[in-house]
Amino acid sequence: MKARLLESREIAPEIRLFVFDIPDLQQFLFVPGQWVSIEEIVNGETVTRAYSIASPPAGNRFELCLNRVQNGYMSPYLFTLHPGDTVEARGPFGTFIWREPPNDSVLIATGTGIAPFRAMLPSRLARDASRQVTLLFGVRHEHSLLYRDEFEALAREHPNFRFWPTLTRPGPDWPGRAGRVQEHVGEAVGCRRDLDVYICGLKEMVDGVRAMLKSLGFDRKRMIYEKYD
Ligand SMILES: Cc1cc2nc3c(=O)[nH]c(=O)nc-3n(C[C@H](O)[C@H](O)[C@H](O)COP(=O)(O)OP(=O)(O)OC[C@H]3O[C@@H](n4cnc5c(N)ncnc54)[C@H](O)[C@@H]3O)c2cc1C
Repeated sequence: MKARLLESREIAPEIRLFVFDIPDLQQFLFVPGQWVSIEEIVNGETVTRAYSIASPPAGNRFELCLNRVQNGYMSPYLFTLHPGDTVEARGPFGTFIWREPPNDSVLIATGTGIAPFRAMLPSRLARDASRQVTLLFGVRHEHSLLYRDEFEALAREHPNFRFWPTLTRPGPDWPGRAGRVQEHVGEAVGCRRDLDVYICGLKEMVDGVRAMLKSLGFDRKRMIYEKYD
């Protein structure tokens, strides 16, 4: 299907939000957490890449959130698009979605790995006030805390939701957590081993967190993850 770019804007250095619609559809049906596949001809080669949908379902629109990978193919190409340009999209795909019945959960993301959680959280929190949810979100710098205002607003509205950003390169005025997400996983899970832990980001982080959870005694069925590379 053709997806048409409506808007693209920088939301952090080297990270853009893309709003698409699908003119041939009235409703683009997907489950928050799923991804679309984009296929384009870049430098004469057909390139296909997956991107998590970063927005909840809304008519025929969907959003992506991308960082530009230096020397990459698809991400620098998408950064050159202008409103009105179209791309070939397929989907939705993927099983990185809330398990049913919902459980108390810890969500762990780094960088643009936050995209599926941004799609998942509003409906999840609106549906169920009894389940505790902690979002542990790691980036380098404070200005790269994507969707910070939205997560802080969700934390104010929902006492069962905790937003824990952590920075690996905090400025002198940063009052919050510092270091990699791995340094905060133990505190986020506490003594519970019956939580569902959702993890999204690059392989190194995902594998590191999974190994840590395993060493803490988590069953692998409790770890639900999406690797970007
Ligand atoms: C299910 C799924 C969902 C994804 N969702 C997103 C998303 O929402 N946003 C997003 O930015 N990317 C996402 N990705 C990664 C995306 O598919 C591409 O791999 C990425 O945009 C790089 O593609 P490229 O052609 O520009 O670079 P390539 O030439 O393909 O890659 C160059 C290098 O970049 C690394 N890489 C891949 N993704 C990233 C990244 N996000 N940040 C830094 N390095 C990376 C790879 O390890 C590779 O070594 C997702 C991947 C999968 C499998």
